[in-house]
Amino acid sequence: MELFDRLEEHEQVVFCNDPNTGLKAIIAIHDTTLGPALGGCRMRPYESVDAALTDVLRLSKGMTYKCAAADVDFGGGKAVIIGDPSKDKHPEMFRSFGQFVDSLNGRFYTGTDMGTTPEDFSNALKETNCIVGVDEVYGGSGDSSVPTAEGVLYSIEATNERIWGSKALYGRSYAIQGLGKVGFKIAQRLIDVGADLYVTDIYLEAITRLEEYAKEKGVLLKVVGGNEIYSVPADVFVPCAIGGIIHDETIERFQFKAIVGSANNQLLSHHHGDLLHQKGILYAPDYIVNAGGLIQVADELYEPNKERVIRKTKAIYHSLMSIYKESEIKGISSVEAANQYCEDRIARRVKRNSFFSHTKRPKWSVRV
Ligand code: NAD
Repeated sequence: MELFDRLEEHEQVVFCNDPNTGLKAIIAIHDTTLGPALGGCRMRPYESVDAALTDVLRLSKGMTYKCAAADVDFGGGKAVIIGDPSKDKHPEMFRSFGQFVDSLNGRFYTGTDMGTTPEDFSNALKETNCIVGVDEVYGGSGDSSVPTAEGVLYSIEATNERIWGSKALYGRSYAIQGLGKVGFKIAQRLIDVGADLYVTDIYLEAITRLEEYAKEKGVLLKVVGGNEIYSVPADVFVPCAIGGIIHDETIERFQFKAIVGSANNQLLSHHHGDLLHQKGILYAPDYIVNAGGLIQVADELYEPNKERVIRKTKAIYHSLMSIYKESEIKGISSVEAANQYCEDRIARRVKRNSFFSHTKRPKWSVRV
């Protein structure tokens, strides 16, 4: 029973093995109370099947919370492919993976994650309807960093409102870590409103591009080194690069009043959320803040509607305000309050089998 003990919280775990294509994958469905499971497919050269199973169980549970917070009609799931994405993957492997996904008959929807690309999933799409986030030419909804950046900006507004009583973006200073697809868009908007910015990136070209933009707008940027960003005297820290950057050592150096960014898994461990709370730094939980991209891909399963995506992304503002309020009332960290907020949403819903397996969306091969 040891294995079942490990899967106790999960509804279904599927091991996929195809010797013809070399596919070895695990699909984990955590909870379908809110709808069919949704979650990306990660490809990594896991050192063991055990490590892959641990990862997929953890990530699929996280997706249940993320979907509940974003108010999309999906539950939590995730898939992992065991292999090196730089040398082991090929189109047939993803067609085979698509067949396994299809065999779940609408219980699981997936798309790209670390180590996989929209192109990989254009192959899986030949075998199943249950794919989201492919390129626009295949019927996908396009660049998800656009709604993700919007969601972060709404979250900053909520946080500013909570601390300073005004949601205005201007009049505050921000420290942005990472000027990639999401961070760059946020930086541009903050420059547009004339906010004071500290920025850092390991990629020099991104900094040069932003400096040119700031110059055009007559705003002076403060470019700092990678490690320096943690101790600049900015009001709000906006992490948009890597995870695990909030830990004992960085918290010690923070002068920020709040942290609101898109990076996944910003806290090195759960107790760092409590530490921020004790230090009086308002933390906007990452999975609430960065849900804009998820909202967009989840929306692909209906008739496309950009307005609906914007409206749902805007609602992140209100979710965050409720979480901050609960955190204050109950005297718990914002991370704890966010988890309870999601658990309440799931508990309020009566479980039903609302699968999307018969959507009007055709398979790519059928369409051409
Ligand atoms: P990206 O790869 O386009 O940009 C990341 C940027 O961070 C790059 O410019 C990179 O050079 C920089 N960077 C990497 N390490 C750094 C470091 N140590 N210090 C400073 N800069 C560093 O990624 P993105 O799509 O902009 O996503 C940013 C973060 O948001 C990631 O953690 C991602 O998982 C998360 N996220 C993105 C989306 C989305 O829709 N793109 C959705 C949810 C979450």
